[in-house]
Amino acid sequence: MMQTPLLLTQMIERAEKYFPKKEIVSRTESGINRFTYKQWGERTRRLASSLSKLGVEEGDKVGTLAWNHHRHLEAYFAIPCSGAVLHTINIRLSPQHIVYIINHAKDQVLLIDPDIVPLIEKVKDQIPTVKAFIVMTDGELPETTLEPVYHYESLLEEGDPSFQFRNDIDENAPAGMCYTSATTGNPKGVIYSHRGIVLHAMALGLADTTGVSERDVALPVVPMFHVNAWGLPFAAVWFGSKQVLPGPYFTPGLLAGLMQDEKVTISAGVPTIWLGLLNELEQNEYDLSSLRSVLCGGSAAPKGMIRSFEEKFGIPFMHAYGMTETSPLAVIAASKSYHDDLSAEEKLDLKAKQGILVPGLDMKIVGKDGEVAWDGIEMGELALRGPWIASEYYEDERTEDAFRDGWLYTGDVVTIDEEGYIKIVDRTKDLIKSGGEWISSVDIENALMAHEHIFEAAVVAVPHEEWQERPIACVVLKESGKGSVTKEEIMDFLKPQFAKWWLPDEILFLDEIPKTSVGKFLKRALRDQVQDQMKQ
Ligand code: ADP
Repeated sequence: MMQTPLLLTQMIERAEKYFPKKEIVSRTESGINRFTYKQWGERTRRLASSLSKLGVEEGDKVGTLAWNHHRHLEAYFAIPCSGAVLHTINIRLSPQHIVYIINHAKDQVLLIDPDIVPLIEKVKDQIPTVKAFIVMTDGELPETTLEPVYHYESLLEEGDPSFQFRNDIDENAPAGMCYTSATTGNPKGVIYSHRGIVLHAMALGLADTTGVSERDVALPVVPMFHVNAWGLPFAAVWFGSKQVLPGPYFTPGLLAGLMQDEKVTISAGVPTIWLGLLNELEQNEYDLSSLRSVLCGGSAAPKGMIRSFEEKFGIPFMHAYGMTETSPLAVIAASKSYHDDLSAEEKLDLKAKQGILVPGLDMKIVGKDGEVAWDGIEMGELALRGPWIASEYYEDERTEDAFRDGWLYTGDVVTIDEEGYIKIVDRTKDLIKSGGEWISSVDIENALMAHEHIFEAAVVAVPHEEWQERPIACVVLKESGKGSVTKEEIMDFLKPQFAKWWLPDEILFLDEIPKTSVGKFLKRALRDQVQDQMKQ
């Protein structure tokens, strides 16, 4: 067979050629903007030509500090299709981590949303590699101390709408990069090659994964600075799907409104987003009948939440698993044809697992005595390899912690059942080790979140003299339960579901659970908070 390179250039050229009338809907400071792929393609070419005039060369890193909108999508293609590297920076990280990331990647140019400008002004003297700042605003260039600074739309006006994208890049060359949000230490960088991004997008198009197609209207809620919004924008461009980019505000009411008005068919986000949306749907009426799939990943989706989506609102829910290092899609909870015969409860149990390995990847699960049995019981660490799995951390000594013998060791402890369905038990570092046995914080959290008056729950370990560690549950009640639900009631609710030694030693009621920059429970901070509270 021929060896033709897999490049992002093919994706945008296909969108321009075959889907020029399809639409990108983008919400920015000034409201809703609509572009056809033809218009967007020309804007993207103008941006690429302007970046090249600014001196961006092959292999240079161009950072973006931006929310989900059309300009960010332009950067997604203009940068890699001219041979440079799209470095999406997580704007919710601490300023100190943002400085680390920009310096570590050696970003040459930064594209910045107007609301992020003050943050970068504060650190501008600490990022010497940056030679130009571009502000992505609808309005005038804001007053700023950044220097030299450019106005995105003015650069586009001067740009060339028929700029030629590169077709001669090595498919293994870097196209993008993203740093993990790192709960400890400095963030670690992952480079995405053209080939990896294209193959991952192809995997998103498979009927037995997410099945993204021209007929879809895709709304990525997951930020475009977090693992390329799970690759959804790339797949949507390639396949000509209409895209809806919600801008900086991910409030549940706004999302539900956009989903209804734009007839969104597929959306993707972390469980906290979906919990918020459920809350909204319980209070206000929307017509979300166009939704064919709500994709959920990043942390475990509680079964109670899946049940509400499916049974109460008739919205199909799809659980998936991945990480920054895996582009991210690696495992997805697609059912098999004969699962149609399962009972409603059994189907929900299946959906609550993370699912089976996506075609194209390899996996093994390594327990104490080698690879674990497919019995749904034995626990081991999940290791992955494949064409869209990173092979190292970018210029980082910590590579050897996770990448060994050609495998990525994910740090996730899992079980696998007879049918090949993987269930994430915990992150290695969050497992509760009690009396030489393991307790899954995730299992207890899921059980708690199925309680009708519990909004969120997180379970952490505290040190224990006799048992080494014991679980403590932190619970945020819904308005409906505040002042009425007691610890005893919650304990009685858990008792029939778990062995006695799994039950939390204490239940603490909190106003909120601390979260990471991407909306996951921040277990480290919670552990400290719980330990302080227990001492009082
Ligand atoms: P960070 O490390 O910054 O949180 P990642 O998005 O790379 O960023 O996180 C990947 C991790 O998220 C995985 O290693 C796993 O622990 C967790 N994760 C992802 N998807 C799921 C899921 N569906 N269920 C449970 N955990 C998940």
